[in-house]
Amino acid sequence: MTSAPEPRDAWSIRNASLPGREGRWRVTVEAGCISEISPEGEGGGHAGAWDAGGRLLSPAFVDPHVHVDKALTGDRVSDAVAASNLEAAIRAVRRLKSAFTEEDVATRAETSLQWGLAHGTTVARTHCEADRYVGLRAVAGVQAAARAMAGKVDVQLIAFPQEGWFETEGTMEDGAAPYIEQALQAGVRIVGGNVNRALWPSDPERQVDESFALAARYDCDIDYHLDNWDTPESFTLPYVARKTVEQGWQGRVSVSHIASLAMVSDAEAADAIDAVRRAGVNVCVLPTRIRLTRVLELMEAGVNVACGTDNLRDPFVRYGDADPLKAMLLLAQITNQLHNAGLERIWRTMTDNAARMLRLADYGLEPSCRADLVLLDATSAPDAILRQAARLAVFKRGVQVAGPLRVS
Ligand SMILES: [Zn+2]
Repeated sequence: MTSAPEPRDAWSIRNASLPGREGRWRVTVEAGCISEISPEGEGGGHAGAWDAGGRLLSPAFVDPHVHVDKALTGDRVSDAVAASNLEAAIRAVRRLKSAFTEEDVATRAETSLQWGLAHGTTVARTHCEADRYVGLRAVAGVQAAARAMAGKVDVQLIAFPQEGWFETEGTMEDGAAPYIEQALQAGVRIVGGNVNRALWPSDPERQVDESFALAARYDCDIDYHLDNWDTPESFTLPYVARKTVEQGWQGRVSVSHIASLAMVSDAEAADAIDAVRRAGVNVCVLPTRIRLTRVLELMEAGVNVACGTDNLRDPFVRYGDADPLKAMLLLAQITNQLHNAGLERIWRTMTDNAARMLRLADYGLEPSCRADLVLLDATSAPDAILRQAARLAVFKRGVQVAGPLRVS
């Protein structure tokens, strides 16, 4: 286990560009927090401030949806299995998981988090499978990786029923619910779900009811894989929004994918989007999946939309290197962003919006916010996305924890 870096005394970066703001700025950091932000040429700051030369200083990235427990296992299945179909991939992952040890999971999870850190991610929320195949070994392995990364990357774990909530004989649905409760008892603080009427034949509303009840019992947030199917039939989103309000869980529920929202009628979609906004349900989109949901309509309605990097070279997704800038470029291209304002909005999906989804109270570029920062070789957020800018320095609570440029 590596120890957390020591906090430094007060220091400043001057002459920096900030996302969404005109001009050049001086940012001062003290005791792990931002103490002052002032226009260049005004304010005190710290003597000997490092000159950013107009480069972009942003709040560090928040990756709200990753799968570090099964990351980097793609090479463990044959190409034929990986390429065949979803059912074959699910069965392959079950075989792999049965052989996972806690140490194996911890090693791959830590590598994945290190990759993210090198790309500027200092907070990540990961799904973590718990079921009859892997038991709680994935939970324990990711918890060990999170301890090893303390002081560099904060990790939130979701207890994720990849294999389905109920056990339904003669189908692939394989009864993970008891393991999800065990994961909560083992310290996981977020209830996951794999709610998909098309994939699992049992009752999705009942799964939602049961997982909301668990969240109430353990005082946990909720984060679902929801409606991840390209048919209008797999559409449990309106029920989740209703349930969120009934339980008073506004702001505490997040849903990823909701692909079927793109397949229902425009009128039905508008009603659902309004319900999601009123319920304060966060939406996470994953552009690794080519057919997305109604991303722009959700954003324009005022829904909190975040973006994640998702799977990392496992049997489900061959690609990935945990780089938020790649995910944001893909999202910008798929949603056809033609102007800087659209690219600024995409930037917020892996900074401010993702932080709101993860309920990080002290995140942002304001005095008293945590000094989780990334310095990029770009002049603005749109420029950083378009040129996939190098991450020059990454700071966790004011301490440089990654990046080739020593800022002092
Ligand atoms: Zn996922």
